[in-house]
Amino acid sequence: MTHVAHGAFALSSRLDAFAATAVVDRPTLVLDIERVSMQYRALKAGLGFARIHYAVKANPTREIIERLVAEGSCFDAASRGEIELCLSQGADAAHISFGNTVKKAGDIAFAHQAGVTLFAADAEEELEKIADNAPGAEVYIRVLVENSQADWPLSRKFGCRATMVPELFDRAVALGLRPVGLSFHVGSQTRRPEMWAGVLDHVAEIWRGLQAAGHELSVLNIGGGFPAFYGDAVETPTRYGAQVMDLVTERFGAVPRVMAEPGRGMVAEAGLILAEAVLVSKKSADDTHRWVYLDIGRFSGLAETEGEAIRYQFTTPRDHDAMGPCILAGPSCDSADVLYEKRPVMLPMTLKAGDRVVIRNTGAYTSAYSSVGFNGFPPLDVIVL
Ligand SMILES: *Cc1c(COP(=O)(O)O)cnc(C)c1O
Repeated sequence: MTHVAHGAFALSSRLDAFAATAVVDRPTLVLDIERVSMQYRALKAGLGFARIHYAVKANPTREIIERLVAEGSCFDAASRGEIELCLSQGADAAHISFGNTVKKAGDIAFAHQAGVTLFAADAEEELEKIADNAPGAEVYIRVLVENSQADWPLSRKFGCRATMVPELFDRAVALGLRPVGLSFHVGSQTRRPEMWAGVLDHVAEIWRGLQAAGHELSVLNIGGGFPAFYGDAVETPTRYGAQVMDLVTERFGAVPRVMAEPGRGMVAEAGLILAEAVLVSKKSADDTHRWVYLDIGRFSGLAETEGEAIRYQFTTPRDHDAMGPCILAGPSCDSADVLYEKRPVMLPMTLKAGDRVVIRNTGAYTSAYSSVGFNGFPPLDVIVL
């Protein structure tokens, strides 16, 4: 079933109360800032001694950064803009890691001057840029993860193969950098903690190889992957984090500094999108499926429907009526703007143009992905409660 009205654990009643009465004239992401604090504390309780670096790209809304600074979170930034955002909200530069493995020289220089000391790399040329623009910096080498079991894998584009890691460590030393450890990303929306085991085995083997070669390792960055509720049961953040840390400790023993970089798991459940049906139609009188066109689509916030990888949940005021399958599409004049077709979505048979459609648990990777004015549609609006 794709239609699920209630989450694995309490949905935000503040969000629901707001959604019940709010009148908006365009697709709007509503964020519950208290829920961000709850997620941070729940993840922290599970992750124990690991330091949380919130992956800013998941949702860079200013109030989220401000709140997480107040909670004591550290940050993983992907760009100069994200570093500037964190600094503007009072984050300490020493608590920001520059985790993108693809950085412009000028942005590295900016980060270095701002006081950022920890950088990611997965290639020799990246180490050379860091050495030139942030001399003496700490670097961790990102390892390529194969066979990710995540719903939204990040494999292949990032990280280097195991055989290259020792060469990069030696090169970093030769360049005057301080190679302090390893990072990886298990893949976004890794639904169960057990799915981490194989990846951790692989990284632990590389870790021990480096130690045997005489490198002193102090940083293990376990990346993101912490799941949100999209209809399939997931563990609570505390239990999930604790199970992952058990798997880490089994393999790595006592590591001085473990970093975790939750993005989705921190903010997805802190938001919902208020959208609207614009058209309900059939292509012929005997068509078995209705087409439902929303006022939000692939280019205005729902980019993660690509490949139907992330399956959002929809609720409408007519959900007590009989339900039937729909092909769901966005409003733009672009044929790629179809959200779900391979696996249709169940919506009320009575749904019609103008009806409110709420898209649940959409606090991550929505507003940040929305285009500025493609087809003349405004970018996703954001309201913070
Ligand atoms: C995107 C990203 C994250 C966050 O991933 P989630 O699956 O959203 O938790 C963490 N670390 C790095 C380096 C990333 O690029």
